[in-house]
Amino acid sequence: MKLHEYQSKRLFAAHGVPIPRGDVATTPEEARRIAEELGTPVVVKSQVLVGGRGKAGGIRLAHTPAEAERVAGEVLGMEIKGLPVRKVLLDEAADIRQEIYLGVVVDRAACRPVMMASSEGGVEIEEVARINPEAIKKVTIDPFLGLRGYQTVTLAKGIGLAGEYRRAFDRIARGLYQAFLACDASLAEINPLVVTGEGSLLAVDGKMVLDDNGLFRHPDLAQMRDVDEETPAEREAREAGLSYVQLDGEIGCMVNGAGLAMATMDIIKHFGGAPANFLDIGGGAKAERVATALRLILADPNVKAVLFNIFGGITRCDEVAKGIVTAFEEVEPTVPMVARLVGTNEAEGRAILEDSGYRLITATTLAEAAQKAVAAAGGELTV
Ligand code: GDP
Ligand code: MN
Repeated sequence: MKLHEYQSKRLFAAHGVPIPRGDVATTPEEARRIAEELGTPVVVKSQVLVGGRGKAGGIRLAHTPAEAERVAGEVLGMEIKGLPVRKVLLDEAADIRQEIYLGVVVDRAACRPVMMASSEGGVEIEEVARINPEAIKKVTIDPFLGLRGYQTVTLAKGIGLAGEYRRAFDRIARGLYQAFLACDASLAEINPLVVTGEGSLLAVDGKMVLDDNGLFRHPDLAQMRDVDEETPAEREAREAGLSYVQLDGEIGCMVNGAGLAMATMDIIKHFGGAPANFLDIGGGAKAERVATALRLILADPNVKAVLFNIFGGITRCDEVAKGIVTAFEEVEPTVPMVARLVGTNEAEGRAILEDSGYRLITATTLAEAAQKAVAAAGGELTV
């Protein structure tokens, strides 16, 4: 789960990271009031869950409360990378002398958190990694020892930070790591962390990604979820307990098991197609859940064919087949469907599909199923 900038920064601040004074507005009038209270100049910042808002025109400076109101009105009407702006953060504008990147992520290879710093702040870190990887300094954190003082010194020196800022940098790095730990985050990032004209360090932008599997321990954080930022399909999937990620291909995939779902996507690519989604209906999927899954897949206008790849273990093929038929009763199938059902109760499952009167293309092996789905999506194969 991604958090908004203002949410991330407040969590950072709770762990001792200095952030600008500011507040959130949903209307231009509210923005004006906040600007009056803060004093100008202020920055008006779109709160959407994507990076690169600055480049997209979603971060604007305002010199008077009236300007803040006007600019907030413009920003609140914007769409950034497809996401409508519903909230703006108004922050006291900082006098920026230098922009630094500071972040913590879980490094799966090292099985530890890694803290990264770069003198190339303000730019997306992926961009720095591509163009100038030497500019990124890293330290691996031992979870039992925590972030050590020498490690923050290593980072500060590594990015050429002047000696007078080392203490403040150390405090911010520790605060960021504490916030990361306390929230069960998979990413906590300050970009940019700035050196101001007054000679202090300030976290001007913040980003946090929380581990969904840790959210049950944090009901307060779980409440921060912005349901407006989920597509209707993603919300429906989450509420039904489905792992669903929309992609931009044309073959809808309904698979049980995350590993099999990944393999299915790979093999579709291998045979020249592109998956429209990742979808794991889970083990022991019941008819109703399957129906929800199919409705989600067919709601995507890019889908030209659907591939059911079910390996019956705990999941019974007849249950899935019933779910498919139930779904067909609700959502008339408009594209060709390829079904591969193997394992527990596969014969019963196939019989249910055949008796349903709906026409499906059947396949035995995964390779065959994928090839047929690619052909069906290309209009080269019909029932
Ligand atoms: P992002 O583009 O989504 O990462 O949004 P940021 O919050 O990082 O803002 C983008 C850029 O706007 C920063 O790198 C800064 O250069 C600039 N910016 C943000 N806040 C301020 C501010 O208070 N004062 C000034 N002068 N520039 C700012
Ligand atoms: Mn940023």
